[in-house]
Amino acid sequence: MKTLIKKRGIILSSKDFKENYKILNILTIDGLDHVILKGANKMNSGNKKYTIVPLEVDFLIAEGKNLSTFTEGYITQNFTNLKNVYEKNMIAQVIIEKVLTFTEHVLDHELLYNFVKKIFELLNQYDYHTVILEIFEIKLLYLLGIAPNLEGCCRCHKKTTNLLLSINLGGGCCIDCSYFTHCELDEEETQIFKYLYLIKLDKIDDIFLSLIANTHLNFDSFIDKYYEKYLDFRSIAKKILKKIV
Ligand SMILES: [Zn+2]
Repeated sequence: MKTLIKKRGIILSSKDFKENYKILNILTIDGLDHVILKGANKMNSGNKKYTIVPLEVDFLIAEGKNLSTFTEGYITQNFTNLKNVYEKNMIAQVIIEKVLTFTEHVLDHELLYNFVKKIFELLNQYDYHTVILEIFEIKLLYLLGIAPNLEGCCRCHKKTTNLLLSINLGGGCCIDCSYFTHCELDEEETQIFKYLYLIKLDKIDDIFLSLIANTHLNFDSFIDKYYEKYLDFRSIAKKILKKIV
């Protein structure tokens, strides 16, 4: 008899596998699981619901030689708005793309799991989608070990809070050094960037999000350049998002 294992995970994506099977990519506290889901394409199959992502499930898998099979699931979080609100869905796709790409580079998978779950909850609950996406992308840099150093000037190593962010320096640059270094963000932008980096996810609410949104600052191109420089990553999902929204 095959061993059954019980797990909890967030289903991030699915792709066709053989006739009538799918492979589910599931984020768990141990990293990414790839499991077979049977009968997902049949009209009357109760399994189709597991392919409408993202969703959190408790599930049982039967261990196979190579791949395990999803045998039973219980949905614990549906993130309904991420499916019903078009813009939220597009943002969720951008998040999912990054999680699928970078999970194996993250050391603490349990931290990643709780982080992704909380971000989906925030996106499900609140508007200001682009601010939530920026918080996700900025904080993910920490989990990937490439967060910018915002404690002082990365050029002359002076401790100061008056900093400008420079991609080349990989962190802050003091006013004096900024005459010799290209800085993408000015002092005010760097300060707000730091708020987004440091804010505890539990402290994020409507008021915080609207305050950030009202600054009308946009870190999107800075973030994309940062990911490109340090991870050689260009987001396809974001390209689609920009074309549509
Ligand atoms: Zn300096």
